[in-house]
Amino acid sequence: MFHANPALILNADFQPLSYFPLSLFSWEEAVRSVVKGSHVVVAEYDQVVRSPSTVMRLPSVIALREYVRPPARVAFTRFNVFLRDRFRCQYCGEQHLRGELTFDHVVPRAMGGKTEWTNIVAACSPCNTRKDKQVWKPLRVPLEPTQFDLMAAQRLFPPNFLHESWLDFLYWDSELEK
Ligand SMILES: [Zn+2]
Repeated sequence: MFHANPALILNADFQPLSYFPLSLFSWEEAVRSVVKGSHVVVAEYDQVVRSPSTVMRLPSVIALREYVRPPARVAFTRFNVFLRDRFRCQYCGEQHLRGELTFDHVVPRAMGGKTEWTNIVAACSPCNTRKDKQVWKPLRVPLEPTQFDLMAAQRLFPPNFLHESWLDFLYWDSELEK
């Protein structure tokens, strides 16, 4: 049953390291990092683990002791482009969460278009292969996202399993924004 007790990992400022995928440790990794001293326990499950010398409640939320600065620039990856575009085809607006999305060069490579944040958008295959696509404009002007933009996008895709002790750390700020 313990494999079903993952721990949410927070940075030292109590923000999750990542929302999507949600930053989690297995219970073994969580216990190891608390014993090692790199993380502190913020909340616990009712279940305990026993060793010959100690009894410990399984951590449900742990936080890094030392703040880890997020990278200054967001990595230009397939996943991050789709995340910036909220997994929506930037031509028809349809959302695709299961890998039916492709990359589209807004200015085609043949016309000197570069493979970079400002010229790449998510597109479904039918839209990507339409011959008259050149007269369309993407729904949103593609820009390089900041780490903050991407975190906001990640929050739109909550995982299937959320332990109640995690909610304070995941959604309190979005509640305040309302
Ligand atoms: Zn489309």
